[in-house]
Amino acid sequence: MVYSIMAWDFSLFMRPHIKFKLNKSLDIKMAEAFLDFKCGGVDFSRGIMNVHPKLKILKSVKNKRKRKKIIKAHFDNFYKKHGGYLKNKAAEFNTEWKTVESKFLSETNKIFKGYHFHKGKYIGYLSIIDCNPRFIKDKTFQIFYFHPSGARYVVAHELLHFIFYDYAINKFPKIFKKLDTENGIFWDLAEIFNTTILSVSEFKKIHGQKNAPPYPEHKKYIPQITAFWKKTQDIDEWLLKSYEYLMTNKNTLSL
Ligand SMILES: [Zn+2]
Repeated sequence: MVYSIMAWDFSLFMRPHIKFKLNKSLDIKMAEAFLDFKCGGVDFSRGIMNVHPKLKILKSVKNKRKRKKIIKAHFDNFYKKHGGYLKNKAAEFNTEWKTVESKFLSETNKIFKGYHFHKGKYIGYLSIIDCNPRFIKDKTFQIFYFHPSGARYVVAHELLHFIFYDYAINKFPKIFKKLDTENGIFWDLAEIFNTTILSVSEFKKIHGQKNAPPYPEHKKYIPQITAFWKKTQDIDEWLLKSYEYLMTNKNTLSL
């Protein structure tokens, strides 16, 4: 009896519980940061301008202080008008994620062979722009309040990033410890891993989407790297094979 209670506590300790919150100042900061940001074949400024056409004016504003002023005024106004709606959305996301959380954690546990999620805040900050960055160090991320793929998909995607980076560095420090998580081959690998895993039927049931689309620049690697997964079904072998494949093909394939 005592043993079972202790075991239960222990497993809870290892399970991250995502909470959704609003964070206007982070949102403003990210809007400034993503105005001039392109990555993996995606222009992130579109995630700002398409949602807030009024902010298209920023294309012709190069002065940073002026930009900040325009963004802040727009965000202050939006949060004032729609703050209640955003709060309700956060509550909705909480409820929605709870319906699949334990299934997600048990499937992830199988893939990472019992490796646990590292400590962190595990907060999803609602965002009024469609850029959706994640912050690996403190285990938080932003989620567009109207994300077309839905909260379950976004949370599964970001949580996979958190455990993936920690696992890869821990398991193969000689390869991954020195690599940049925000750019280059390690970033490519993390995104391609997500497309691969989120396309597996167990994960499709969790996130409810038909597809897990890759970044445009990663499309050409998907068939081979997905085939590695189907063949190995082993995260360690997959990591090594896929890393090697990307190292050999990244430059030649992008020519
Ligand atoms: Zn990602």
